[in-house]
Amino acid sequence: MAGPARDELLNEVREVYAELAVRPVERNCTGIAQCCSFRVNGRTPFLTKGEALVAAKAWRASGRKEIVLPPDGSCPFLGRNGRCQIYEARPFGCRTHFCEAAGGPYARGEVRDLIQRLESIDHQLGGSGGVNLATAVTVGMSELDAHSDRGEVNRKRHRRGR
Ligand code: SF4
Repeated sequence: MAGPARDELLNEVREVYAELAVRPVERNCTGIAQCCSFRVNGRTPFLTKGEALVAAKAWRASGRKEIVLPPDGSCPFLGRNGRCQIYEARPFGCRTHFCEAAGGPYARGEVRDLIQRLESIDHQLGGSGGVNLATAVTVGMSELDAHSDRGEVNRKRHRRGR
């Protein structure tokens, strides 16, 4: 799926993030980025397809063309300054999984409805459930590339046809 239909679904993903942000679940993240060090905390976020495409678009918008896995096993979007480089587009798991120092992860029951919406969007986008962050976003970037290449081919055809 590409074009306006996909963009509409990606906006729904962003709406889910916005709704989550106003939920009264208190956490105290101090930005130590422990949750972004997958090898240290033993957890890698899994993303639905909508989340992956939103993250891929943000990564692409920042001028990056590929995802490089850091040798220390941390998230490829964690900057040298210790900050998330796609913060506004970070996946749902990054918004709900807090380390113990910050108050611990959200209970599934607190966000079940939002998870179900992400799963529904995943289904509509042709996804197949959660995929680990690096793979999900890499596939998402390939999909964005494929559609932009196709768009370019169509534009060239259109120009030749004139
Ligand atoms: S996407 Fe951002 S918040 Fe999530 S693990 Fe990576 S650096 Fe951390």
